[in-house]
Amino acid sequence: MTHRNPASESLADLGRSVSGAVIGPGDGGYDVLRRCFNALVDRRPAAIVRCFDAADVAAALDFARAHGLDVAVRAGGHNPAGHCVVDGGVVIDLSMMRRVHVDADAGVAVAQGGATWLDFDTATQAHGLVTPGGVVGSTGVAGLTFGGGIGHLTAQHGLTCDNLIGAEVVTPDGTVVYADEDGNAELLWGLRGGGGNFGVATRVKFRLHPLDRVVGGRLVYTGKGVAEGLRRYRDLVVDGPGDLSCGALIELDESLQPILILAPCYTGSDADPEALRALRAAPGLADDRVRRHTFLGQQHLFNPPYGEERNYWKSTFVSELPDELIDELLERAVALGRAPGQVMLESLHGAPKDRDSNHSALGFRQAAFNVSAVAIWRDAALDDEYIAWARDTAAAVAPWSVSGGYVNYMQADEPIERVRAAFGDEAFERLRALKRRYDPANLLRRNQNIPPL
Ligand SMILES: Cc1cc2nc3c(=O)[nH]c(=O)nc-3n(C[C@H](O)[C@H](O)[C@H](O)COP(=O)(O)OP(=O)(O)OC[C@H]3O[C@@H](n4cnc5c(N)ncnc54)[C@H](O)[C@@H]3O)c2cc1C
Repeated sequence: MTHRNPASESLADLGRSVSGAVIGPGDGGYDVLRRCFNALVDRRPAAIVRCFDAADVAAALDFARAHGLDVAVRAGGHNPAGHCVVDGGVVIDLSMMRRVHVDADAGVAVAQGGATWLDFDTATQAHGLVTPGGVVGSTGVAGLTFGGGIGHLTAQHGLTCDNLIGAEVVTPDGTVVYADEDGNAELLWGLRGGGGNFGVATRVKFRLHPLDRVVGGRLVYTGKGVAEGLRRYRDLVVDGPGDLSCGALIELDESLQPILILAPCYTGSDADPEALRALRAAPGLADDRVRRHTFLGQQHLFNPPYGEERNYWKSTFVSELPDELIDELLERAVALGRAPGQVMLESLHGAPKDRDSNHSALGFRQAAFNVSAVAIWRDAALDDEYIAWARDTAAAVAPWSVSGGYVNYMQADEPIERVRAAFGDEAFERLRALKRRYDPANLLRRNQNIPPL
């Protein structure tokens, strides 16, 4: 692909052919629209096509092909690699396509391709329904789903992609196809984990589950309680309770000592769940904000600022969390000598284990945890230091690694072997066959790319 600037007349033609809007450098809003969650990414596209419907998406794809321009697809803008914006290319911006339609009787919801989790949860919770999504409201629904999807209800209802039952997709040649179990089932399989490689989804359809209130919130441990809290957390989730999901974060406090934040989400009927008692009774528990609240309340536990912080993430799926690895993670948390961001642990116990490999493309469901070094900083002068911390932390976790890393958290510099390992050899070859069918020229390559050849 070349990065020629499309003539302004061509951009004006494109603007006339879409129902949405075309924003170029110099237009009002350009700098806001090219911004993504990760402040490390600063790119200047030739055109941002703010799509209104599938026809707009097709027009943007036609334009990019005709002018030999790179394409980026933008929804929530959260991908840490900054795949949603490309220098000199065309951004297909779906952020005006955020409607969510709930059919409560059928127990399904259909979201437009640019909807966020806040859009989705607000719509479904009005009916007391839910699908397991991400933990930050501004993350895109389709983008998260297409990489798997881990969150507050993973143990109960599986990965987000396990609940995806249909998708309307505009393929790179501008054709609109619908994928579900009855038609284009192989494409549906590929969308469940294979990312945005095959087309631009304009609608995604999910199965819903009844849910109103949960017992959830945060538990914060300090001092010696950090290691003990992590061990109790591991022992709890290793038993695989199907009604309790729980994430863990290791951060540093102001005196640069590790603290542990656990974020349980229990959906059973017990007001004081037995499963949580061991965690709440652990020594070193400094703050207990666990209570019965709405699921929307749970979804607001984490609201990081958008576009202000520099991020570099590196995730590793591990088969177990032995004491030795816990000690290693605590050492890595203080290794930088300043607050590094987070070491994040996500448990994959419960429902993700119930699906076989034919259901979805991803290859990590047998892992016990996803362990991620999430470097977060503000000063550009510290880029190298923080990036090195994330890489070194991932290297320290590598001896326990299975199934590569999580595509949803990958930076753009991940080697193809790690992308392949995230799926497994067989699924990766099956994804490549799908890629050859839907995107043989690899127009959609600003993602964790499945090369067609
Ligand atoms: C603060 C934060 C919190 C996060 N929390 C979670 C979490 O709880 N669980 C989890 O599993 N992941 C989480 N993620 C990771 C996130 O799911 C992925 O990075 C995902 O790609 C983000 O999607 P997006 O639409 O927000 O991002 P964008 O950057 O807009 O899109 C990323 C890519 O996804 C693809 N894509 C997006 N929408 C479409 C579409 N409609 N059709 C085709 N392709 C599309 C495209 O390839 C696009 O470039 C989080 C990331 C951040 C930064």
